Amino acid sequence: CKIDYQPAADLLDGRIILVTGAGDGIGRAAALTFADHGATVVLLGRTISKLEKVYDEIEAAGGPQPAIFPLNFEGATLKDYHDMAETLDKAFGRLDGILHNAGILGRITLFEQYNPELWEQVMQVNINGPIWMTQALMPLLKRSTDASVIFTSSSVGRRGRAYWGAYAVSKFATEGFVEVLADEVEHLGSVRVNSLNPGGTRTAMRKAAYPGENEMTLRTPEEIMPTYLWLMGPDSRGHNGEKFDAQPPKHG
Ligand code: NDP
Repeated sequence: CKIDYQPAADLLDGRIILVTGAGDGIGRAAALTFADHGATVVLLGRTISKLEKVYDEIEAAGGPQPAIFPLNFEGATLKDYHDMAETLDKAFGRLDGILHNAGILGRITLFEQYNPELWEQVMQVNINGPIWMTQALMPLLKRSTDASVIFTSSSVGRRGRAYWGAYAVSKFATEGFVEVLADEVEHLGSVRVNSLNPGGTRTAMRKAAYPGENEMTLRTPEEIMPTYLWLMGPDSRGHNGEKFDAQPPKHG
């Protein structure tokens, strides 16, 4: 956990960074924060109006001109991922980072009552889509001299918990995939792949999972950004295949 990390103002200058689920919650905060530290951000998500708002905020703050890439992991095909790689290749020629952040909760329910279509949907959005997108983008990542790929995990992706169903399984799969890919890129030295658990954060997803919780007790997406910046930027070079937390565990 690097919650006290003090990033340089120009930490991500000149870097091209893709953020999935950039229209809301943690992804939105990450896109704005990365741009604020000099990155050219590619905003990927399913609701274009939200991405446009983030785009406008970055422009208004004087950040590098971002790009919008509308994509819904639910219906996306391999062709979509390859078209995306081609578009990014033409525009930038490389990719210096991916924050895999888009995700859905599915339902908090007894496994015996879990709807199989919903289970598949959660696996598609949270792990299968991101995996095939990553495969298509590997050539672009390999062209970077210092690329950081961050997959978003969860506490239930490290220890299972009753009722968390497909969401927990998708996050365990995420942790497993990070280990596999990190091991494969280790010899390159220029690409690292790690997992990051944001911890309980004040967003719509958290509210859906814990409707009775007082959200004022939770950190905001903005408050957990130091760890995101550290892991995306050059100060985390050399860390590969590791599991990080964006905030210290709660006491009591
Ligand atoms: P939000 O629900 O606030 O935001 C999720 C983002 O993902 C939205 O921008 C959403 O787009 C996008 N998204 C959802 N489905 C798709 C899809 N099919 N295709 C493309 N984009 C999609 O969630 P959080 O910000 O809370 O969560 C971000 C990440 O952090 C997730 O991976 C989550 O599992 C993880 N996490 C969050 C915790 C928390 O306490 N908040 C704790 C542990 C992990 P749209 O806005 O259009 O719906």
